[in-house]
Amino acid sequence: MAKHRLIVIPPPFQGHMTPMLQLATILHSKGFSITVAHTNFNSPDPTNHPPDFTFLPFYDGLSDSYTVSPKNVIHISSTLNTNCVTPLKELLLRIMDENKANKEDKILCVIYDGLMHFVDSVARELNLPTILFRTTSATNYLSYHSLSTLQSNGYLPLQDSSSVCMEVVEGLEPLRFRDLPIFNLGECATDMMVKQAAISLSVKPSLGVIFNTIEFLEASSLQKLRNLYKVGVFPVGPLHMLMTPPSSQKQEKNNHSMTTSLMKEDYSCITWLNEQEIGSVLYVSLGSIASWNERELIEVAYGLANSGQRFLWVIRPETIMSIPEEVKTLAREKGRIVKWAPQREVLAHSAVGGFWSHCGWNSTLESVCFGVPMMCQPCFGDQRVNARLVSHVWKVGIDCSEMRIGREEVEGAVRRMMVSWEGKEMRERAVLMKDKIMVDVRDEDALNGLVHAINNHNS
Ligand code: UDP
Repeated sequence: MAKHRLIVIPPPFQGHMTPMLQLATILHSKGFSITVAHTNFNSPDPTNHPPDFTFLPFYDGLSDSYTVSPKNVIHISSTLNTNCVTPLKELLLRIMDENKANKEDKILCVIYDGLMHFVDSVARELNLPTILFRTTSATNYLSYHSLSTLQSNGYLPLQDSSSVCMEVVEGLEPLRFRDLPIFNLGECATDMMVKQAAISLSVKPSLGVIFNTIEFLEASSLQKLRNLYKVGVFPVGPLHMLMTPPSSQKQEKNNHSMTTSLMKEDYSCITWLNEQEIGSVLYVSLGSIASWNERELIEVAYGLANSGQRFLWVIRPETIMSIPEEVKTLAREKGRIVKWAPQREVLAHSAVGGFWSHCGWNSTLESVCFGVPMMCQPCFGDQRVNARLVSHVWKVGIDCSEMRIGREEVEGAVRRMMVSWEGKEMRERAVLMKDKIMVDVRDEDALNGLVHAINNHNS
């Protein structure tokens, strides 16, 4: 029997691909058929997903040799928004024709990531309903609404030396100017980002907007966004919690669950974690794009080793020609270095007592859902916004955004996180917060509202 089909369109970045594939899996469990339309560049592995998921690539014009870095994310996004218009349109038309010929599933709607804003006009041309999926925090997205006003009022570009840095931005409390995603970007990149934000705000999805969040975490930002939108706002999240019943997540740690990873996860670190004491390990990872340079790696290695704490450290191979011998030696006694970790399993592990993170939104959600406090080291984009939420609003993290990467500073911050009273209190607060999130996650109101909106539109 034909089922109703959803087309999901993620951009080729890990932090966006993961929540889109998680969302697809959840909607699949609600009875929808799923087609993932994706770029050739950084394409997902179909074998990691249910066999009845359909994966269809479309041309993007990007070279496979590209490495995604903080410097080229905006460039890659704008290239996709230009190059992919015709290829996606042709792909959607082909799917529609095939469906008609085979009397197969009708396309109910197209769910696209906010970075792929070109999808909206393509879908509209083909009379397909759309839902926009915002994979950053609602608070970050809300800040986009202020960027062009800040620019016309002469506040941008915002540099470290700007006198307003520490002031709170009106309407975006408690964000300060220095927490905004355009902080320290330079004139050209700021301009490009403000333009991108304006374009991304101009799209008008017909059925609604999904955020990977919950009321408990971002009630005030969600309320403000509801006032700005004419369509439904669905805070469906944290998605990784909705994929597996929360009660079984802790036991799941040794199972190789469905992965959305574009890189191979090294499960040997779970075996290593099994041998460590409860709460004794600091997990260190800057996500899939940010990185430290060689000098910083050496300083971090000394700081970690000198702190006397155990650590599990992700160093992605594409960020460094080879890990300096000095770093390997320093890590040998108390640490473990991997190229890519099964992060959710790591954070769910009882041996992990802290997460030194760049505060990407997925990492932030994963950390708070497993009750792990954070050392917040935002690097670019929405990460400063998230760091502010973690350290200032939820108070489950230390703000390290101004920390110089030097061995003494690192040693001090690691000790503060792992062995001080302040760190202990944060750990306790993080556990309480996790319990409250669990209560919200069990209530599937937003998810049911989304499913209803998709089905109802077409009934
Ligand atoms: N991640 C992982 N293994 C690693 C490092 C990261 O699986 O070794 C995952 C992490 O769980 C998260 C995603 O990669 O889901 C990173 O997304 P995030 O939004 O935190 O940061 P981004 O990579 O987009 O900067």
